[in-house]
Amino acid sequence: MEQVPCLSCGQFFTPRNKKQNYCSAVKCQRTRKADWQRHKIKTDPDYKRDQRISQKKWLSSNPDYWKSYRLNNREKTERNRALQRLRNKSRLKKVRPGKPVIAKMDVRKDAVRPVDIMSSGQFWLVPVIAKMDAAKVFLRVL
Ligand SMILES: [Zn+2]
Repeated sequence: MEQVPCLSCGQFFTPRNKKQNYCSAVKCQRTRKADWQRHKIKTDPDYKRDQRISQKKWLSSNPDYWKSYRLNNREKTERNRALQRLRNKSRLKKVRPGKPVIAKMDVRKDAVRPVDIMSSGQFWLVPVIAKMDAAKVFLRVL
């Protein structure tokens, strides 16, 4: 059979059948499964519900998962927080002012402080208009 490019890595490979679009590399097979699952969740409400139930069950038996994830992935955590703050800011215009936008209802007001832009440090540059990845930068006050 003629070689075709893998949809994930772009490397040419010989498919086993005409439907095979991903090579057999572990990373590409994970991408294939994730793509399939994303499509399935979008198109099959029963599957979506079952996945949600399954994830809730798993999370209740691993309650510290997100806490340890945030501890072990500081950069991703900071990036996600920056992006969430941005989403909250745009949502705030649509909902009642003063009401929390995301589910974390018990956050004390004094725990949420604005970013001190007059100090040096690492920040996430988050594009507001263009849909691009955020970039981590180091700013030094002169
Ligand atoms: Zn591949």
